[in-house]
Amino acid sequence: RSLEQVLADGIRDIPDYPQEGVVFKDITPLLADHTGFGQVVEALAAFGTDDDGNPAVDKVVGIEARGFILAAPVALALGAGFVPVRKKGKLPSATYEESYALEYGEATIEVHQDAFAPGDRVLVIDDVLATGGTVEACLRLIRRCGAEVAGTAVLLELSFLPGRKRLDGEQVGALLTV
Ligand code: IMP
Repeated sequence: RSLEQVLADGIRDIPDYPQEGVVFKDITPLLADHTGFGQVVEALAAFGTDDDGNPAVDKVVGIEARGFILAAPVALALGAGFVPVRKKGKLPSATYEESYALEYGEATIEVHQDAFAPGDRVLVIDDVLATGGTVEACLRLIRRCGAEVAGTAVLLELSFLPGRKRLDGEQVGALLTV
């Protein structure tokens, strides 16, 4: 199967979740598809390679929670370390935090202060790019740690939301745009 077919088969729409009027993109069928999951991991890992296809990052960041599922195998595929960026209050050691606006209220994400070596090149992975607030805050966190953002890759970009515009000037790859 082509990657396009894998994505079409594995991502389903759940209307009115988590609230009425929202159509939630559910990737759990894709995760349960062993072959498809492997193809997706390989395609995401390609965003962390150089022009010759060699791994070019030191760390892969996964954003809680679905980002973890994708970023961990991508890190292994690239021979890179995995770093979790988590919602506030979940990481046990000293952290940096960044907040960003949600439709209603605010969210805060954190990373361990010692998660990166100075100058580490970092690939950021998440499942869905919506308004871009989460990724934007994550990039601020990485740079605050003295690491370098090599790029961001997501499974799915929702192009009717301003995520890409908000991340203007950043390298953002998506396997599928709807
Ligand atoms: P943003 O900050 O608005 O770009 O939202 C992105 C975050 O919300 C990501 O961490 C996603 O996991 C999550 N998200 C937003 N919409 C969806 C969706 O339709 N399906 C799955 N996750 C979503």
